[in-house]
Amino acid sequence: MFVSDCLSINEKGNLAIGGCDTVELAKEYGTPLYVFDENQIRKNCRDYIKSIEDNYNGNGLVIYASKAFSCLEMCRICASENMGLDVVSGGELYTALKADFPAEKIFFHGNNKTKQELEFALANGVGRIIVDNLTELEMLNNLANEQGKTAKIMFRIKPGIDAHTHSFIRTGQIDSKFGFALETGEAMEAIKLAKIMKNVELCGVHCHIGSNIFEVEPFELAAKVMVEFIAKIKQETGIEIKELNLGGGFGIKYLSSDEPVAYGDYMGRVAKVVNDTCKKLSVAIPKILIEPGRSIVGSEGITLYTVGNVKEIPDIRTYVAVDGGMTDNPRYIMYQSKYEIMCANKANEPKTKVVTVAGKCCESGDLIQEDAKLQEVESGDIVAVLSTGAYNYSMASNYNRIPRPAAVMVNNGKARVIINRETYDDIITNDV
Ligand SMILES: *Cc1c(COP(=O)(O)O)cnc(C)c1O
Repeated sequence: MFVSDCLSINEKGNLAIGGCDTVELAKEYGTPLYVFDENQIRKNCRDYIKSIEDNYNGNGLVIYASKAFSCLEMCRICASENMGLDVVSGGELYTALKADFPAEKIFFHGNNKTKQELEFALANGVGRIIVDNLTELEMLNNLANEQGKTAKIMFRIKPGIDAHTHSFIRTGQIDSKFGFALETGEAMEAIKLAKIMKNVELCGVHCHIGSNIFEVEPFELAAKVMVEFIAKIKQETGIEIKELNLGGGFGIKYLSSDEPVAYGDYMGRVAKVVNDTCKKLSVAIPKILIEPGRSIVGSEGITLYTVGNVKEIPDIRTYVAVDGGMTDNPRYIMYQSKYEIMCANKANEPKTKVVTVAGKCCESGDLIQEDAKLQEVESGDIVAVLSTGAYNYSMASNYNRIPRPAAVMVNNGKARVIINRETYDDIITNDV
C-alpha cells in the first residue's frame, strides 16, 4: 500500500517511519524535516550487492551515486555496506573523504571537472576518474605527471540510447553534454590517445542512460552496445577492458501505483545480455559496476511540513500552504514530479479533498504538488510528502534566505539528527 516498507500507520493513526511516529518527530525536531529510514537504505544496498554477486559470480561492484543524497552519515553507511561511491564534484568528494570513505572505491564523474578538482582527486588517490572529454584527458595526464602518479580512468561513453521514464529511443547521434560519442569515432579516438599517454591507465568504460527508468530494454541494449565496443577496442587496439560500468537510473515508487522492476529481474536480464554478448564476441566478461542513486534512498526518505494556512478559492482550487517548498524540494517546479502526500496526524482518515500544496517562497510556481488527494487539513496539521529521499536535500537551496531543514535518520524506533537545521547565522556566514 505504501511506497516503501519503512512506512506504516501506528496505533494512534499517525504515519510512522522506521517505527518512529512522524508527528512526534515533527514536534521534537521541527519542520520542515527530512526523515530517512536506515534499515531500508541498508537493505537496498544489500539487495543490489547480492543481486550483482548472484548474476556476475561476485565480479561486480555496486556504487552509490551520492548526488542523490550526500552527507557524512550517508557516506559512512555506504562504506559500512561495502559499497563504492560515485561523486560528481569536489564538494561531494570532500564529503566522502571527510567521512573516511575508502578513496580507492570512489568514482569521480562530471562533464566539466576543474583543474582543482582533478588535482584534489589525484592527491587523495581516488579510485577511478571517469573521463568525459579530450580536454579533460589531456589535463589529467599532465596533472598526474606533475604529481608523479598514474590516474586510473574510465571513459564516459554515449551509447546512443536515450532513455526516458516510460520509453526510450535509439538515436544515431545523441544530443548530450556527457561523454564521448560512439558513432563518430570520438570514443575510439580517446581510447587510442589514452593508450599512448604515460600517466593514465585505462581501466574501463562507462555509460549512464538516464534516470527513473522503468523498463529493462534500454539497459539491455546499452549493455549490448558497450560489450560490442569493448570487443572493438580489443580488435583495434589490443587493449582488454576489464571494467564495465553500466551506470544507474533505476526507477522507484513515487506513487503506490508505480511498478519499478525488481533489482533481481533487471540484473538477471542485463547479465544475460552481457554474458551472451561477451561469449559471442570472444571477450572476457568484465567486472560489472552499477551506480544506483535514487533507488537506494528515494523511497526511504520523506519530508514533514506543518500546514500554515488553507486557502479555499471557490470553484478553483484549495491551496494548502506549508512551511517549506521549492527550497527543500525543487523537483515539482523543475519537473512537475509526482509525489504521494498525506496528513501524518490523520493518516487513517480517508483522503476526501483535492488540494494544491504550496510552499512559502515568493514564487507562484513554488508548489509541492497540484491537484493531489489529501485528508481534510487545517493549520497546524503535519503533511508528509513521501519518496523525497533522493534529489531533495541534495537539490535544496537558500532561496528567500530560507534555512535548509534538518535531516534525521531513524532506525527501529530511534531517531538521530544527521544534518542540523541551518540557522539564520548560517545564512549570513559568507556575507562580508
Ligand atoms: C545521476 C547518476 C547516477 C545515478 O542515477 P539514479 O537515477 O539516481 O540512479 C549514476 N551514474 C551517473 C554517472 C549519474 O550521473
